Amino acid sequence: MTKAKREKAAKWLRDSAAVRCPDWCVGGHRTGDHPVDRRHFSRWEYQFRPVLMAPKIFRPRKDGSGLHDVSSWKLEVYVAQGWQQFEPRIEIMSDSGDKPIGEGIKLTLRDARKLRAALGKALEVAQSS
Ligand SMILES: [Zn+2]
Repeated sequence: MTKAKREKAAKWLRDSAAVRCPDWCVGGHRTGDHPVDRRHFSRWEYQFRPVLMAPKIFRPRKDGSGLHDVSSWKLEVYVAQGWQQFEPRIEIMSDSGDKPIGEGIKLTLRDARKLRAALGKALEVAQSS
């Protein structure tokens, strides 16, 4: 099934307040999507494991054994847009599992530009000597 055919089935996308599915969206929208999930997500996604942050997460097992499960985690950067939001957001999420789903940093495009500028300046300072 093509992307266009799947989206035709999602009634919420035909709402007059809905944002048209952007070209950058992975699509796959359905009429039964929970309102929270009525979002466009980018195909593009950047994932990496920050070296200076704890690369492993220790979770206590629920069996009362006192043992822990260990797993690694990463940061994910992608573009998303709520079905009624006028512009996309840049979202930076960790998949560490120690936060509720969807908790992370969500930036407007304007704020993302500020962060880009700040990171650029920080790199200049850090690399000068
Ligand atoms: Zn979409």
